[in-house]
Order: sequence, then C-alpha cells, then structure tokens
Amino acid sequence: MSVLVMKFGGTSVATLDRIHRAAKRVAVEVAKGHEVIVIVSAMAGKTNELVGWVNETSPMYDAREYDAVTSSGENVTAGLMALRLQEMDVPARSWQGWQVPVQTTSAHGAARILDIPPENIRAKFAEGMKVAVIAGFQGVSPEGRITTLGRGGSDTTAVAFAAAFEAERCDIYTDVDGIYTTDPRICEKARKLDRIAFEEMLELASLGAKVLQTRSVELAMRYKVKLRVLSSFEEQSDEAGTLVCDEEEIMESNVVAGVAYSRDEAKMTLISVADRPGIASAIFGALADAGVNVDMIVQNISEEGRTDMTFSCPNDQVMRAEKAVEAARERGDIRFNDLVTDTGVAKVSVVGIGMRSHTGVAADMFKALSAEGVNIKVITTSEIKISVLIDRKYMELAVQALHDAFGLDKAA
Ligand code: ASP
Ligand code: MG
Repeated sequence: MSVLVMKFGGTSVATLDRIHRAAKRVAVEVAKGHEVIVIVSAMAGKTNELVGWVNETSPMYDAREYDAVTSSGENVTAGLMALRLQEMDVPARSWQGWQVPVQTTSAHGAARILDIPPENIRAKFAEGMKVAVIAGFQGVSPEGRITTLGRGGSDTTAVAFAAAFEAERCDIYTDVDGIYTTDPRICEKARKLDRIAFEEMLELASLGAKVLQTRSVELAMRYKVKLRVLSSFEEQSDEAGTLVCDEEEIMESNVVAGVAYSRDEAKMTLISVADRPGIASAIFGALADAGVNVDMIVQNISEEGRTDMTFSCPNDQVMRAEKAVEAARERGDIRFNDLVTDTGVAKVSVVGIGMRSHTGVAADMFKALSAEGVNIKVITTSEIKISVLIDRKYMELAVQALHDAFGLDKAA
C-alpha cells in the first residue's frame, strides 16, 4: 500500500475547527486507499509564546530545557489530530518524536535528523491503523534528551518521514496556495508556479522565501522526495499547489524562476587592511567565532599593499560583528584604518536553473535596475543566482522591476 505524508503548518491547525478540516482532508486520502503519515506543527503562535516564556524565565537558558518547552506545542496538536480522526472512525494514533524514535544529533535548538527507523509505525499499519500522526519539529538525542530541529522544522520532519517510508509524495499544507515567482505582498503581478526545481527552491528558501524550511528542501533534493506545497484553505485537487521536483520533470521554464529579497541586511567595510596571506582568514575567522553569518564578501583591488574588505551580514548581527573585528584588532590579529557600517541595505536576487545555459542574465538584471535609478552596492553570483545589495528604500521597486524585466508574470 502506498504511503502519503501530509504536513499541516501552524495556521492549518490553529483552532479545533481547523484541525477538524485538516482531519477531513486526511480522511479523503485514507478513503483513496493510502496509509497516511500526518505531521503537525504547533497551533499558530504557540511556539513563539513558548520561546517567549523560556527567555523570560532564563535569558541564558539551558538549550536542553528550551527544547523540552518548545517541543510541547506539537504534542498537543498531534494528540488532538489523532482524537479527531478517531471521532471520524479513522484508525489513528499519535507519536511524539522520541517514541518513533526520530533520532537526531544533540545540537539542541538546531538538531539534525540522523535516522527514522520505520518498524514501529509499519507494525501499526500492518495491524490496521490508517493514520500515524507525528509531532513535527522534534526528536531525541543520543543522550536521550528531547531535541528540536530549528524554527520551521516540521517541514523537515515531513520530508524525512517521506524519505524513510518511500512515500509517494509529501504534501505540505500551509496558508499560501503554492510557491510564487516573488512575494505577492510586494509585487501584485507575482504568479503561482505549477512546478519548481529543487535547486531553485533551495536558493529561494535560503534567500528568505519563508514557505519551506531550507533544510527540508535540501533533504527532499537528496532523497528525491516529491514535495507539494498547497493551501489547506482551498478546495482540494490533485493539481493544486506547486510541485517541487527534479528539473527533468519540468518541461518548459523561464530562465529566471523567481525574485527573492531579504530586507534586513547590513554592509560593513574594513578600510585599508594589509593585503597579505592570512588576513581574510583572520577577519572571517573572528566573525565566524562570534557566530556572525557572513553572506557576501568583496575584496577590493589593493594599492600599496593595502585593500578594503567588504562583507554583508544580517542587520541584527552588526553589533556582534563590530565587537568581533574590534577585538581582533586589539589582539593585534588585524589592522585597519576604519570600519564603515551601512545598516540600510537590502538584498535582491534572481534565481533560475536556466542561467546555466543562458548568457546575459546579469546584464539584463543590471539594466533593469539602472533604468529605475537603483544603485548597486555589492554583487555576487552563483551558478543559478545573482544577488545585489541595494539601498533598502528601493527594495520593492527593484523586485517589481526585475519581475517585469524577466517576464515572470507569464509562464514560459
Ligand atoms: N512550531 C515550530 C515553529 O513554529 C515548527 C514548525 O511549525 O515548523 O517553528
Ligand atoms: Mg513553516
């Protein structure tokens, strides 16, 4: 019998009524002959509330207890979902992560799944159970402590179960009806995609499109799990939503699949650092040790043995970054004349696997930005992505201009 994984996000289980609606969708799939593994998030807002309670109680909290507290939201929805299914005469039971067990690393708050032995759940299916309801976002460490997978981690739970059970598909039910060419809130011409390639989704997710946890897309790509993102608020159909799949399964696509943005970036430049071996290592080593997520890096040409080094990082890490480089200067590891920080920048990126075979995408992107008078401060590229840093006040304008320039309002 084929297994289907259905994941319901926080807004899809936000109330008892919504849990009821989600359960009805599950029952439809059971009636079609599927064995279903349901992954649930906590009710919308619950995890934030729990995180708040932890911080209020203990600002320098013990990460193991953070996980003990924040994993609890999913336990509630898993039990309620199983109860609701039972009320509908669908044989179902709930599992917390440790009961399966979802074995993870001991990196509390950001654990990775190591293994999901399928035997326990398979045995229950063999006895006639139709739905296994799993509390998402959580697992158990080798030390036997409860772990969580990082915010948004239920997506990763869902994909990992789909891989472990060789599921036919992994449906992610959420509050949007699919993956869009860009954020419809800032570009009204944004269009829902029927299909998107794993690589593109991975870039979009890591660039700030928040629909799927990045890690879940990585896993889906590695294990070739067919992922479908769809709304739990709209009519169900087999064609609904967006399928995230292998690029071979996409017949025609635009060169650029989507435009992503991230609003709260900062740009920092170390003026006049010595241009010698080991200097980049000293600067970025210090930043890494301080836990700063450095994104773009640009080293300028050097003059008389000195150069400027520019990098970007999330805005809320600027203080930490400044402290780290000042401390490295005091230790004598690096020397520079000045540190210039610009906290008013945003990153805008275009993503598409078509860039591998099409030239001129960068030129088209820069032309579209210049036509709007938007100045580019930093540029980085990868095989399927071009990102620029610009003044934050032009971010919406830039996204709209690029969406137009690459014709994203129309399908290929
Ligand atoms: N409840 C967790 C969170 O809000 C995990 C999830 O919903 O994916 O981050
Ligand atoms: Mg989510």
